[in-house]
Amino acid sequence: MKNIILIAPPAAGKGTLSNSLSICYGYLPLSTGDMLREKAKNDESLREAMKSGMLIDDNTVFSALEEQLNKIGDSLYILDGFPRTVEQAKMYDEVLNKLNRDLGVVIYLDVPKDELSSRVTSRLVCPKCKRSYSTRNKDLLPKVDGLCDDCQEVLIQRQDDSLETFEQRYNEYLEKTQPLIDYYKNKGVLVTINSSLPDETFNLASELIK
Ligand code: AMP
Repeated sequence: MKNIILIAPPAAGKGTLSNSLSICYGYLPLSTGDMLREKAKNDESLREAMKSGMLIDDNTVFSALEEQLNKIGDSLYILDGFPRTVEQAKMYDEVLNKLNRDLGVVIYLDVPKDELSSRVTSRLVCPKCKRSYSTRNKDLLPKVDGLCDDCQEVLIQRQDDSLETFEQRYNEYLEKTQPLIDYYKNKGVLVTINSSLPDETFNLASELIK
């Protein structure tokens, strides 16, 4: 199997897919958003920048990511939320060259904007294991209201999951992240999944990585 990069607009289900693939196939999920949220606990300016929905500077993102990549050795991994710009993708190509690793496959989750905006306001996450739930989608409801199925932690809403911040994140995505689709298409490594259903998305992704 190959390493996976997930590209998708905000709230398209990157975290949910990454979590299912890691449970079923043993991938290590690497989310730059989660890494930055951990750092932001002790860094107020980073917390404010993330709350506004802006992308974070490359130095901060790469130092968090490279630290994880160095830790995991040769394990298979899924990148969720990275790269976010063509510039980051080019820098990541250099990191891979240095580590003598393959890029793997890039999965693009194509979900319409009206579906995304209604998801952000219904998303809840576990602060411990980072698993995502939805108060609107019966397939993603926690078994016990408000608690994580896996760690029984109280679920929380992400600070940037408001409609206002969603607009900013979505605009950042259109301007800076969407050009990555052509970048990876030209490299011949991009596959697209058009589905809004978590189970169907997982089944399609499983076929693609075999
Ligand atoms: P996510 O959890 O992927 O939705 O990311 C949440 C927030 O973290 C984003 O809105 C950005 O502020 C920041 N972030 C995550 N990954 C990156 C990245 N690769 N480059 C820059 N900022 C990022």
